[in-house]
Amino acid sequence: MDDRTQQLVNRDLSRVWHPFTQHSVWPADRPIVVDRAEGMHLWDTDGNRYLDGVSSLWVTVHGHRVPEIDAAVRAQLERLDHATFLGLTHEPGIELAERLLATAPEGLTRVFYAGDGSSAVEAALKMAFQAGAQRAGGRPAGPPSLYLHVAEGYHGDTIGAVSVGGVELFHATYRPILLETRMVSSPGVLADGQSRAGRAAEVLAEMAAALEQADGQVCAVIVEPLVQAAGGMLTHDPAFVRGVRELCDRHDALMIVDEVATGIGRTGTMWAVEQAGVSPDLLTCGKGLTGGYLPLSAVLAREEVYEAFLGAPAQARTFFHGHSYTANPLCCAAAVANLDLMAERRTVEHAARVGERIGELTGGIAGHDGVREVRRAGTMTGIEVEAVGERTGFAVCQAARRRGVWVRPLGDVVVLMPPLAIGDDDLETLCGVVEESIREVVG
Ligand code: PMP
Repeated sequence: MDDRTQQLVNRDLSRVWHPFTQHSVWPADRPIVVDRAEGMHLWDTDGNRYLDGVSSLWVTVHGHRVPEIDAAVRAQLERLDHATFLGLTHEPGIELAERLLATAPEGLTRVFYAGDGSSAVEAALKMAFQAGAQRAGGRPAGPPSLYLHVAEGYHGDTIGAVSVGGVELFHATYRPILLETRMVSSPGVLADGQSRAGRAAEVLAEMAAALEQADGQVCAVIVEPLVQAAGGMLTHDPAFVRGVRELCDRHDALMIVDEVATGIGRTGTMWAVEQAGVSPDLLTCGKGLTGGYLPLSAVLAREEVYEAFLGAPAQARTFFHGHSYTANPLCCAAAVANLDLMAERRTVEHAARVGERIGELTGGIAGHDGVREVRRAGTMTGIEVEAVGERTGFAVCQAARRRGVWVRPLGDVVVLMPPLAIGDDDLETLCGVVEESIREVVG
């Protein structure tokens, strides 16, 4: 570590508090100070280069410092830095809404902007409740106020999002302060020898029973379609997503699909729900929306949901929700440039090929004794390794780091989620290094 790096690390350790980071062990893990980035790579302040194997936590699309997105943000800076979206509007916000809806599953007609994925989920949950309450018009039982969700689900870290989460490690601590919900088993956790289709049917039956029992009190069901990402890249059968749609229709609950992780091409289609052939009532997206540049998320809604909020001002049917930086023009400009590039470069088709190639390149390690399972949907890949002592997944990632590849685990699941535009050489490096690192750590 050179002097500058050491000083930055010391200053950080004495003042900064990092997300999802246990500070009692972090100093010993030798923090990386990121200095710059270009394409698929990050450089630290000591000049070491790392392949960004997890798209800077699942956000980067074309790579880092993409000239077209840089130019779009700069051009926007010359016109308008920020203006509130509460009662005002601007071209980048309008343009992006049109562009996003042009890609969206059928029936989604409105865009509500938020900041991060969690805040999009929070908005969707509130929308679902309020839409239900305003459609019901004061039922004796009170408006439906329960959310139905799935074990191992993850939707972000704000209170509403945590309430519909199901990852024990992240969520159990907060249980006393959460909303009341109903949770069913995960469609991605299989019994020995069970098929994914069989598991989907089983969990759908559980969900049907939970909805029966809730007797009209469920306002929305929220799921991550195809992959429960932070739960450990747990994949499920698309039939599960179709079944959720049917159950929502039957029980008059809104279907929220959280595509914050799966959306914008990650699973090899623009939206994961496309692979199930259904449309939700509300769809949340974020992460790759700006190409990985800036925080921006959105809720895409059906017209009927939007219409439930219309009325005279005094009726207070307004969606009383918004943030200081909602639809920040710089973020919107980055997102428009990102979507332009995705269309021009056929990035979604490329991502589908990247996914296939990851499948081929991880084929060897899948049979290894120390590997429990390799799960993948498009480019979203999790390699679950056998635990050999504490923090095995982390040890694999540290071994990869020594070889110039940056990956971050979810427990003992080593995650590979490269920028969608990654080329074959970098992909071979990523998969090769992860394989070597797994062999080094688990033998
Ligand atoms: N939903 C899903 C499915 C996610 O994977 C995540 C983040 N990993 C979120 C919501 C929360 O997004 P953010 O971290 O941007 O708040």
